[in-house]
Amino acid sequence: MPSLPPAPARHALRGRAVTFGTNPFLDDPARALVHEPDALILIEDGHITRFGAFDALRDTLPPDTPVTTWHHGIISAGFVDTHVHYPQLPMIAAYGEQLLEWLERYTFPTEARFADPDYAAGVARRFLRELLRAGTTSAAVYCTVHPQSVDAFFTESARLNTRMVAGKVLMDRNAPANLRDTPQGGYDDSLALIERWHQHGRQLYAVTPRFAATSTEEQLDLAGSLLRQREGLFMQTHLSENLAEVEWISHLFPRRASYLDVYAHAGLVGPRSVLGHGVHVDEDIFHTCHAAGCALAHCPTSNLFLGSGAFRLFDALDPRRPVRVGLGTDVGAGTSLSQLQTLNEAYKVAQSTGRRLHPAQAFWLATAGGARALYLDDRIGTIAPGMEADLCVLDPHATPLMAQRAEQCETIEDLLFVLMMLGDDRSVRATYVAGQLVHDRDAPEAAGERDPGHITSFT
Ligand SMILES: [Zn+2]
Repeated sequence: MPSLPPAPARHALRGRAVTFGTNPFLDDPARALVHEPDALILIEDGHITRFGAFDALRDTLPPDTPVTTWHHGIISAGFVDTHVHYPQLPMIAAYGEQLLEWLERYTFPTEARFADPDYAAGVARRFLRELLRAGTTSAAVYCTVHPQSVDAFFTESARLNTRMVAGKVLMDRNAPANLRDTPQGGYDDSLALIERWHQHGRQLYAVTPRFAATSTEEQLDLAGSLLRQREGLFMQTHLSENLAEVEWISHLFPRRASYLDVYAHAGLVGPRSVLGHGVHVDEDIFHTCHAAGCALAHCPTSNLFLGSGAFRLFDALDPRRPVRVGLGTDVGAGTSLSQLQTLNEAYKVAQSTGRRLHPAQAFWLATAGGARALYLDDRIGTIAPGMEADLCVLDPHATPLMAQRAEQCETIEDLLFVLMMLGDDRSVRATYVAGQLVHDRDAPEAAGERDPGHITSFT
């Protein structure tokens, strides 16, 4: 495995930059957006130490600091994906089903292959490479029920030095025998993985019951007890994605007041709990999420692909009791690892509910909002001194169609909107992780990239 070329301990980036000073769902979006047309970002030992106008900072640069200028790019904080399944990469774009049948027909057979650690390692490499190509530098990631799938993922993430949250799926019922654990076995395996990986470098562990239907009450209770074993652990699961699923949960847990209450009863709902979807929820649930400090992951490409429904983003973010919301690709039900593509669909879902997602609000969700949903906003999600230097460089001229459209843009908001409607991985010119160039679209070798798998060419 070739290692990445080392980044200088101190270097700087120059170019147009966008980030956020405040939350554009609580503040005027145009004011929340910080736009620096010619910025300088000084990076030292993987952290941003200075950020501001080039003219104001040029004389303060330590002598001999190498400066990389991105002439036509827009430098942003790296994207944050708050809900994604790495083992489902091989089965993205699987035809024809809704949630419960889709799990049975496509997902479970694919996840069974992760019993093989070599297979898991190969997919983990491909997945993380694809994330970086999409400009995503942090994610909350589901592995499979197999502990080796978690080792494979964190091994590759540690090699890349990406800040990732991930965990072993807990699933002790309503799944094929080869994908089921037991309450005690799942607990023991998770605890061993926590010991091995939680806060190992930039890696963070999430206790990961798949969803209420695939865990017994005993397993959910043990998941709650796992969360209390170490400081700073995460919890991720699914909530109210699809109507048939919601109905099923109410039969499986007749004594609980709501779907969310199933998790709350087990001690799984609080800060650093990330609940995927929350499409079919009422005001009480939003209120409880706000009070508990847990987060919802909005996964529009997945919700549209599986016909699950329309997430009420603006209701969730109601300034009177805002719920922490991040954006999730939810691959393999999601159809793209690109947050730009995910924003494209988020915009349309908001339109279908009669609301307008401002481009500043959209990019906040994909960066600072996602970091806030994960309680990592003191480290990632914005460009500011003290933050970890996870960045992407966006190219609004990536395709001829985008270039001609970008030429018509008069404001940065217009340009960001073009990026989120027409952009995808082609519009990610470069990606930095802890100050290190890990993806260079036009010179992949310069970033130590390698072909992660065999490519079959058809001529
Ligand atoms: Zn999911």
